[in-house]
Amino acid sequence: MTENNNMAKRPLEIYVHIPFCVRKCAYCDFLSAPASQEIQETYVTQLLQEIVASKQLSEDYEVSTVFFGGGTPSILKGEQLCDILRMLRRQFSFRNDVEITVEANPGTADMDKLRQYQEAGVNRISFGLQSADDQELKLLGRIHTWKQFLESFWMAREAGFQNINIDLMSALPGQTIESVHRTLDRVLPLSPEHISAYSLILEEGTPFYTRYKGHPELLPSEEEERQMYYDIRERLRACGYEHYEISNYARPGYACRHNLGYWERTEYKGFGIGAASLLKDVRYTNQAELAEYLKGNFAGMEERLTEQAVREEYFFLGLRKTEGIDPKEYRVHYEEQIQKLKTQQLLEEKDGRIRLTERGIDVSNYVMAQFLD
Ligand code: SF4
Repeated sequence: MTENNNMAKRPLEIYVHIPFCVRKCAYCDFLSAPASQEIQETYVTQLLQEIVASKQLSEDYEVSTVFFGGGTPSILKGEQLCDILRMLRRQFSFRNDVEITVEANPGTADMDKLRQYQEAGVNRISFGLQSADDQELKLLGRIHTWKQFLESFWMAREAGFQNINIDLMSALPGQTIESVHRTLDRVLPLSPEHISAYSLILEEGTPFYTRYKGHPELLPSEEEERQMYYDIRERLRACGYEHYEISNYARPGYACRHNLGYWERTEYKGFGIGAASLLKDVRYTNQAELAEYLKGNFAGMEERLTEQAVREEYFFLGLRKTEGIDPKEYRVHYEEQIQKLKTQQLLEEKDGRIRLTERGIDVSNYVMAQFLD
């Protein structure tokens, strides 16, 4: 046995970006767009090539999580997604307890696909619901209704998925605190294992930005937005969900390991256009132009993180977790900030860990900014 074989392999998270959607939602600035079957096929062929080209990573790493995100990964044919997963298994060794998530949009995941995912080892489905109100869904430009979501959700249960996430959004134009509660009234009886609840952000370049930036009267006020956040948190906690990250809730044992790894700076490898990787404190970003990627030009930018950038990331990513972080040897660089934030009651310290207080969560951007140079 070589020395390498004797050494424990490091965990690696894999992200696979599928940049296709049925149509573009009005608020979305992700790297995603509608595309023909032909383009999707060429893309999958190139993805497989990119995976093969990364095989040497398997010498040092063992895969702990795989996340198919997008875009809408469930837009691919079942066989295409399973081919990608099979290729990953062929090139890398997977941990026995590997978490494999597929993001699915209601209206694109049918029983056949869900069964194929199951057979290929996918063990977590993440549904982008956003709202249980059909008017709100229409305004967002989503392709599905509440009823279609319900059908997809029960299909996933029937196919055997016992770990399902539902994405929700608040602070939508015209949304009221009551309508947030009505969405929760519909979603909570489904008892998903995980709920992500984000506030809408107006991203430049989107139709929502054009329509609503500069028109705060069309959006919930800041106070209403905070109230929505508190109400969601309170209702989810009352139903047994653990609030483990600013915007994420899970039944005990169902926190998303892939996302936790990201906040804890586990190394990751991204495949597909625009996908980022973090390996040995070097950040790689793939080619973001689809046309170039389809020609086999995968590489984009590469940046070696400075020591300072590493500790900044450690703080502003780690503090998103409600359990906070152990400041470790980095503390000496931030003692002043930590003391100031503790005095302001935005950070608290317990058993050697620092974490955001509930008040700190309200102004988390301000708190995180204190750790950036
Ligand atoms: S489905 Fe998701 S990725 Fe696709 S356009 Fe809508 S929000 Fe963006």
